[in-house]
Amino acid sequence: MNDKKNYGFTTTILHNDRLKGIEHGSLHKPIHTSVAFGYADARQLASVFQGKEPGFRYGRQGNPTISALEDKVNKMEQGVGTLCFATGMGAIGAVFQSLLRAGDHVVSSAFLFGNTNSLWQTTMGQGVAVSFVDATDVANVAAAITEQTRVVFVETVANPRTQVADLRRIGELCQQRGILYIVDNTMTTPYLFRPKSVGAGLVINALTKSIGGHGNALGGSLTDTGVYDWSRFPNIYENYKKAAPAQWGLAQIRAKGLRDFGASLAPEAAHHIAVGAETLALRMERTSSNALALAGMLEADERVAAVHYPGLKSHPQHGISTELFHSYGSLLSFELKDGIDCFDFLNRLKLAIPASNLGDTRTLVIPVAHTIFYEMGAERRASMGIAESLIRVSVGIEDADDLLDDFACALEGC
Ligand SMILES: *Cc1c(COP(=O)(O)O)cnc(C)c1O
Repeated sequence: MNDKKNYGFTTTILHNDRLKGIEHGSLHKPIHTSVAFGYADARQLASVFQGKEPGFRYGRQGNPTISALEDKVNKMEQGVGTLCFATGMGAIGAVFQSLLRAGDHVVSSAFLFGNTNSLWQTTMGQGVAVSFVDATDVANVAAAITEQTRVVFVETVANPRTQVADLRRIGELCQQRGILYIVDNTMTTPYLFRPKSVGAGLVINALTKSIGGHGNALGGSLTDTGVYDWSRFPNIYENYKKAAPAQWGLAQIRAKGLRDFGASLAPEAAHHIAVGAETLALRMERTSSNALALAGMLEADERVAAVHYPGLKSHPQHGISTELFHSYGSLLSFELKDGIDCFDFLNRLKLAIPASNLGDTRTLVIPVAHTIFYEMGAERRASMGIAESLIRVSVGIEDADDLLDDFACALEGC
């Protein structure tokens, strides 16, 4: 096979390691657990440490197993470089810590993964101002931008209410203003959507979710798409300006975010994620079609008060989702009508499992107000449009008939 050819999404992931030559002809990249690395001689050790020769320094900053996964995620996102982290939050935290300084301002979507929201609160305590806006309309983002705005941060499909950010127009706005645009692509994955296509400079993926896909390993990644001109970013330290500007951002994040904070991906987890990633496209096709069928069934049921899924025509961002996404993904949420107890309903489900992960092969359900959004209280939930009966569903790859039967039966009360 010729490495120069442009293979499709799945072919690329499946054969990427092998085409680069794997030790002993092994078809999986081996799990390298060594923390330290040997060199031909002491001069080579020095030149690897000085970045004059390629090579590994110390396990916290990467190893061959991690590099192989980074290369795969990088190809999926069509980036110029990717770093992996212990978790999705590790990746997000490393970006915030390595790129922002006291006095900076950030515009963030108000519809965020709960822990990212909590992390912004921490960042605010460190002197970074954050404006939370309804990012489904670019006008709200534009109105919040100031002279100090360094970053605009959004998720593609927000969890749990599935609002879709005005991704393309926000990208155009950031480009005009020279602002770094960061997109958390976890809910769509690079198979459904590439944030690079709308001008994102950095892309985050929680590999824990659909990319790993089996709920058996934590991981996160950060991809530099090559779109952002780092010479316009005021917070790059002189140390990381030695190479061309295209490399400044990732060099600083690798050192300040990964090396200094140390949320490094474990090689065993990288292996699980790399194996899971081989079937990402197949699983996303299946979970998307299952989710669309389930959302349609729930919407037609008189016991259901509301269904939130970008694949439904009734969804406020159905148009932009159809325009930008390959399909609509595995996340949906719905509200039961008054008088139906959501715990009783969940207890009647036989296949869908009450649990808090997303992007698993198995369908998982969670009563949002009583669990992941419990801490914030009823008032804040109401302000975010989170109904007390809201149930989030991470749709799995079960046979569609079995899945629909399970929900229909639980609604019937059987
Ligand atoms: C889960 C998730 C994260 C965090 O990922 P972890 O691997 O659990 O730390 C970040 N963003 C989104 C959108 C997520 O769903």
